[in-house]
Amino acid sequence: MRGSMVGTAEPAPQMRRTGADFRTDTCGVRPSSLWSCRPPVIALVFVFCLGILPAAAQSRAGQDLTPVTVQLKWTHQFQFAGFYAALAKGFYRAAGLDVTLLEGGPTINPVDAVLSGAATFGVGNSSLLVERAHGRPVVALAAIYQHSPFVLLARRGDGIDGPKDLQGRKVMIEEHSAEVLAYLHALGLSPRTLTILPYGGDPLVLAKGDIAAISAYSTTEPYELLSNRIPYQTFNPREVGIDFYGDTLFTTENVVYTQTDLVRRFREATLKGWQYALDHQQEIIDLILETYAPNLDRRRLEFEADTTRPLIIPDVVDLGYQSEARWRRIADQFADAGMIPPNYSFEGFIFEGPRPNMRWLYVLLAGTSVLVLIAAFLAQRFYRLNRILRREMELSRILELRLARLAATDDLTQVFNRRKFFELAAEEMDRARATGVPLSVAIIDVDNFKRINDGYGHAAGDEVLRRVAASIPTWISTPHVFARMGGEEFALLLPGSPLEEAGALCETLRAQVEELRLPGQDIRFTVSMGAAAADPEDTSFEVLLARADAALYVAKNDGRNRVALRMVELDAPAAFIG
Ligand code: GH3
Ligand code: MG
Ligand code: MG
Repeated sequence: MRGSMVGTAEPAPQMRRTGADFRTDTCGVRPSSLWSCRPPVIALVFVFCLGILPAAAQSRAGQDLTPVTVQLKWTHQFQFAGFYAALAKGFYRAAGLDVTLLEGGPTINPVDAVLSGAATFGVGNSSLLVERAHGRPVVALAAIYQHSPFVLLARRGDGIDGPKDLQGRKVMIEEHSAEVLAYLHALGLSPRTLTILPYGGDPLVLAKGDIAAISAYSTTEPYELLSNRIPYQTFNPREVGIDFYGDTLFTTENVVYTQTDLVRRFREATLKGWQYALDHQQEIIDLILETYAPNLDRRRLEFEADTTRPLIIPDVVDLGYQSEARWRRIADQFADAGMIPPNYSFEGFIFEGPRPNMRWLYVLLAGTSVLVLIAAFLAQRFYRLNRILRREMELSRILELRLARLAATDDLTQVFNRRKFFELAAEEMDRARATGVPLSVAIIDVDNFKRINDGYGHAAGDEVLRRVAASIPTWISTPHVFARMGGEEFALLLPGSPLEEAGALCETLRAQVEELRLPGQDIRFTVSMGAAAADPEDTSFEVLLARADAALYVAKNDGRNRVALRMVELDAPAAFIG
């Protein structure tokens, strides 16, 4: 990881030694010397480290704080209230930081302090952009003041009615008040038309008459002048649209790259401190008076606190928020003033700040995607299996039907076979018995079929059977059942038909068959039929069938091509038709 120093042999040149690399030395053994040790020594060191590392990790939140120094840009006052609050309220400590605040002053340049490594972080302002454009690798971490407090305080009278009247006069300007310079430029007052002197931090110089104006913080110097009853007027760069960021937390590129996590923690704790300070103004003023600046006047601090809030505007903008577009506009205004090159690219200048923790979202998204994929896979598989299953069920249903049909059908003639006939006949027999509805059966036998076979061949015999089988169903209808019983013998089941009706139908069928011919050959063939009607006394269908068979026997004996009807009593004489 970028920010972690653990495991790197040498800290980067500009990087200060921090707790991170300090922890690397916990065992007091450098990697190179470790490998030159003998195995037992290595084992001992290993065991020692095993014992000490968890303890060190445990105490991290407690004692093992990372020392961090912050170079303030001015002497202690409410301007740095957030830092005092973060220290006093333990926000830094909770972030694992041991923070030391270094007081600033007119001779202290925070950029120098931070770049030299004397401080880890510093408080600068929009001029940081100018510094960066001049090759100084500073990175803005948080814009604490959304508006710069920098103004020009000018003497009253003496012909100074507006900022342009400063032309040709002596003006004292603090070294890093770049926006004041940009302001003067925007007013058309180039440094050549002014005498610019360094500002020592005492606004009372305005009273002496020599200096026409000073750069000042709107939050502090006016109070000095007011309390000393020195008349003054304020020229604010914002009047001409120069609206820069004020106090801005910064560090170096090196610190950002090598200790990103530390930078994040420090930034967060500082902003938390600021929120606290703005919410508890009096408490922090007390703290400043007790700890940092006992000599300051409470009313001065109150004036400062009151004038600071509208510059930070915590109710409008998230504390520390930096807009790239705003920095772009500031860069353009610096460029207009000739302080940095036009279209200066400040890539890497704005610290990303805390990125919203999207990890859970990514995890959730990844998890959901995986689940959706699995679900889609399963659904697709299920759909395919379902389709296969349905197809197979359909197929097996068709096969079943086909098998059932095959099982019930005679191969040669495609009418019901004997088995099916008996099955249906048994049902009809039961029904006839239960309802008393008449039931007749007829046996149909091709006459002298052997001769047809012998005379015209087996194939012709087959064709005769097919013709007979095809002709009879055209004369019957449901619930009549027609089947081939085997050989050249067929049977007809006639539910609902009494014997006479059966006899009449059989006669029609017999006459019909008599008309049939084999195509191309004048082969005639006839059938004889024996019919019988069911009687309630019949013990089974076979009994009924036997009576029909007996009638058939009579028809055959009587010369064939005729129908014989059999009455109930087996020994009763058959009635003949045709
Ligand atoms: P009848 O008038 O007394 O019934 O004389 P028939 O010749 O028809 O009776 P028989 O029982 O003597 O002969 C039946 C013949 O039918 C004998 C057999 O070879 C023939 N046969 C049986 N099944 C088939 C078949 O599926 N196809 C053909 N072509 N002949 C068959
Ligand atoms: Mg026969
Ligand atoms: Mg026969």
